[in-house]
Amino acid sequence: MAPDFNLSISRLRKSVFLTMSGLLALGACTAAWVNMLTYSPAKFPVVLIEAIVAVIFGYLLVQTLRHQQKPWHNSLLIYTYIFIIVVAHLGLKPGNTVINWWFSFPLLSFFLLSHRHALAVSTLMLALAMGLQIYTNIYDRQLYWFAGCVNLAFPYLIILLVSYVYEKMRLRHESELIDYALTDPLTKAYNRLALKNCFAQYCDSQAPFSLLLIDLDHFKSINDSFGHDAGDQVLIEVKELFCRLLPKNQVFRIGGEEFVLILEGNNEANLQQAKRLREAVETMSVKYQEHAISITLSGGYVLGDGGNDLSSLLKQADNYLYIAKEQGRNCIVSE
Ligand code: GH3
Ligand code: MG
Ligand code: MG
Repeated sequence: MAPDFNLSISRLRKSVFLTMSGLLALGACTAAWVNMLTYSPAKFPVVLIEAIVAVIFGYLLVQTLRHQQKPWHNSLLIYTYIFIIVVAHLGLKPGNTVINWWFSFPLLSFFLLSHRHALAVSTLMLALAMGLQIYTNIYDRQLYWFAGCVNLAFPYLIILLVSYVYEKMRLRHESELIDYALTDPLTKAYNRLALKNCFAQYCDSQAPFSLLLIDLDHFKSINDSFGHDAGDQVLIEVKELFCRLLPKNQVFRIGGEEFVLILEGNNEANLQQAKRLREAVETMSVKYQEHAISITLSGGYVLGDGGNDLSSLLKQADNYLYIAKEQGRNCIVSE
């Protein structure tokens, strides 16, 4: 279970969706009302479609405001938008200016859909726009359809490519920021914020797990005897040892020489594993310049419980850790 952070995209998508569904509902309402003022039986299908669009997007707007939005709402909005543009293009006389609406499409799709979905739909939309441009204008030489196609394709491609590059960069920056936010810069272990996130996921999964709070013994004396860089080297190698014995997403550095390990499994298996981890650290030796530094750890072990919150479990583990230190260190205490 890796930390799962969704920084800004869902909020951004929600805001764009609210704006667009509001505009669609309002636009469809206004168009239906104008058409009703000059109503004729031929206009019935148009008024019906406008009324349906107004009701659907008015409803989705309210659902979003009530935090009931679903991912497929975004796709529905995009495909309804395509439908409206295509119907308007086909329904109006050749030479109409509906084609200008096409240019808003790539931007909108990159805001509302995943970047792959947006790229695929925007490219298909360009092909569709070109096809409609040719289909509606090909018989009328006065309309210079070829120049029309070129003048449609180039600006559309510019908007499409810039939107794509922008979205790719934004995704990369977002993942870099998430890494910075969740990782300890010295050891590259996950930090306390990542632990909070993973702990919530473990509680949700209902799978049995335990927490082992670890504090390295007499760490200050390593700094005092060999220097701060030697202490750093020990921290890095202890973390690497943990990551050889456990998946990286179960190892967290939560303070100076304090680590939390999440152990997956039942109580007995986890206690055995905690013992193996302590022995592994006891037998390791960190080479620093001409020195071979030995280190031990003390630990407080608690069984994870979906009902408990992280800070109370850590407090409990800290009490056991205190007892382990009192008992002479290099041991693990559990309830
Ligand atoms: P105990 O067995 O009781 O835990 O003794 P200790 O010396 O480990 O405990 P104490 O809390 O007194 O010392 C922790 C030391 O860890 C103090 C601090 O200078 C050092 N420390 C904290 N963060 C870092 C770090 O990032 N790098 C290095 N090199 N030292 C650190
Ligand atoms: Mg400490
Ligand atoms: Mg210590």
